[in-house]
Amino acid sequence: MKQIVKCGPSDTPHDIDIPALRERYRLERDKRLRPEGGDQYVEASAGFADYADVDPHTPPVERAAVSEEIDVAIVGGGFSGLMAGARLSQNGVTDFRILESGGDFGGVWYWNRYPGIQCDNESYCYFPLVEELGYVPKARFSDGTEIQAHCKRIGEHFGLYANAMFGTRVTSMAWDERIKRWRIATSNGDDIRARFVIMCVGSTNKPKLPGIPGIKDFKGHSFHSARWDYDYTGGSWENPVLDRLGDKRIAVIGTGASAIQIVPFVAQYAKELIVFQRTPSSVDRRGNVPTDPEWAAGLQPGWQKERQRNFHQWSFEFVPPGPVSDDAICDFWTEINRNMAARMEGQKPQEFVLEQFLAAREEEDYRVMERLRRRVDSIVEDKATAEALKPYYRMGCKRPCSNDNFLETFNLPNVKLVDVSDSQGVERITETGVVANGIEHAVDCIIYASGFEVTTRLDRRLGIEPYTGRDGLSLYDHWGEGLKTFHGMTSHGFPNHFYTGFTQAGVGANITAMYDQQVGHIAWIIKQTLDRGAVVMEPTQEAQDDWVRTIHETAIDNTEFLLECTPGYWNGEGGGAGPDRAKKLRFIFGEPYGPGFYAFDQLLQDWRDRGDMAGLRLEPASADATDGVVQPA
Ligand code: NDP
Repeated sequence: MKQIVKCGPSDTPHDIDIPALRERYRLERDKRLRPEGGDQYVEASAGFADYADVDPHTPPVERAAVSEEIDVAIVGGGFSGLMAGARLSQNGVTDFRILESGGDFGGVWYWNRYPGIQCDNESYCYFPLVEELGYVPKARFSDGTEIQAHCKRIGEHFGLYANAMFGTRVTSMAWDERIKRWRIATSNGDDIRARFVIMCVGSTNKPKLPGIPGIKDFKGHSFHSARWDYDYTGGSWENPVLDRLGDKRIAVIGTGASAIQIVPFVAQYAKELIVFQRTPSSVDRRGNVPTDPEWAAGLQPGWQKERQRNFHQWSFEFVPPGPVSDDAICDFWTEINRNMAARMEGQKPQEFVLEQFLAAREEEDYRVMERLRRRVDSIVEDKATAEALKPYYRMGCKRPCSNDNFLETFNLPNVKLVDVSDSQGVERITETGVVANGIEHAVDCIIYASGFEVTTRLDRRLGIEPYTGRDGLSLYDHWGEGLKTFHGMTSHGFPNHFYTGFTQAGVGANITAMYDQQVGHIAWIIKQTLDRGAVVMEPTQEAQDDWVRTIHETAIDNTEFLLECTPGYWNGEGGGAGPDRAKKLRFIFGEPYGPGFYAFDQLLQDWRDRGDMAGLRLEPASADATDGVVQPA
């Protein structure tokens, strides 16, 4: 098997009734819209802290509280934090700390150790820094163990372990104008005074629980998928033989990307498995293959960036009918655009009409989703179960999945699917089981594969309180009515403060490429600020206003699309169910820069090349030395 394959369009059904499907999609959405929107979930804190604030992987380590001054505090030790550390080191900035709540590097790949965990994106694109580290992932879709090992590899390669504080959760952050530093308090009692802060907190870092009445009443065992309890199930992350489940009745609540991977493993070992599904995921063929050593040996410098760009173009930012290289990824992420390219073959740029393209793309979307629905029929034997497992929404409403065992699991005699879409979710938890559609299902253990706080309020997601910039301005208030940033990474009123993730930046198909773009830029700014003898860097109000305007003016309005989608965390639970849904929608990708990820890359590069740090105010060490403007080095 070669990792670079030539692929043509897929075979999608033509015998579909689009108006009827459109109506069906609408009905399926409507029955799932809940007035409370994102508030239907309970926060995994206070009474529910056991579901999130426990670390089943590393015993707590006692250490003395630290009081120190450092150049940079990186909050979060997942891929973005690791890359921030790497890029700072490469820029010669070495006085930094990585503050991480987990017991090691990895972020989501540290916490999520459920059986079957794999990356759903091609690992050749997803693993960061592989060329620098001379590493090629072992398979097209890598296991979580390999991914976390790569996190450790990055940590070791760049000497980041020496800078890390594990088991350390940031509890408050405040800019102290007197010392011109961020004052950071942690769960360990540390007092860290950092010149700069880089927030690398990821987007799926906090487990959430469905607010099902009675959760606390359950007398059996329960845990969240992101805190897998191998003591209960048996087996281990490296060897997920769940040999303690042989006499257990297990409920899995949720059928998102995590559950799709978990369910086949639990089914294999449990006496009985009941999967409670509110909305089915689309599940395509996985077709995972080990890496071809010949292909790996022949990779030329720059291969990963080229492949990431290819993936991005074909899955995300397909620009018709412009010339793009052949689809190198050839999987379910790129299918619709690949089919569109085949449809448009031979079309001249002057013949291109956007409306026609979008209509054809929508039709292609219906066909691909129909292919996936028919795939369910071809695998799942029980007709009613198959029907319930069919996704009725557009691709891109929810995260698409691929797995070669999930659908097959429902043919096993010990596995049952309970469709809870009509009641908008599981009705109740009792002392002994789960009630759905008026029936109580007795179980010994409930596994909440119920996802993460992604589009809920930022204060709730971060749990950092207070989180204040100059004059006590809270970041939560500053962004309360919408993001206000300069290039998505800095904000006026928040000196020396950098944020990464889905803000007002470029969004890439590959989250690690996106983080790399951001932290590379941030490391450059920090280095420049220090080299220019400044102690404060802050975007001007004008620069922030200009950027917010640019974001709004270049925005691709996807409101209609999001409104039509079945609710989920990709659209902020559809904005609830009221007439003001459009206002309450939350797009998972924040407010992206409309011209796209690579246009944003170029914009940042040009900005750095100019060297004048336009839009940023630099303040020298001695406040009375100048009017606050530091000259370029
Ligand atoms: P999701 O948010 O995708 O899924 C949560 C599930 O819980 C949904 O099926 C949801 O239904 C269901 N649910 C919520 N409330 C209720 C209720 N009251 N009753 C019944 N069901 C309910 O979380 P995941 O952990 O599956 O995935 C989160 C994200 O993590 C992924 O989308 C992905 O970004 C990432 N991930 C990445 C992987 C990778 O390969 N890189 C692997 C796994 C996860 P509904 O859809 O109706 O809301």
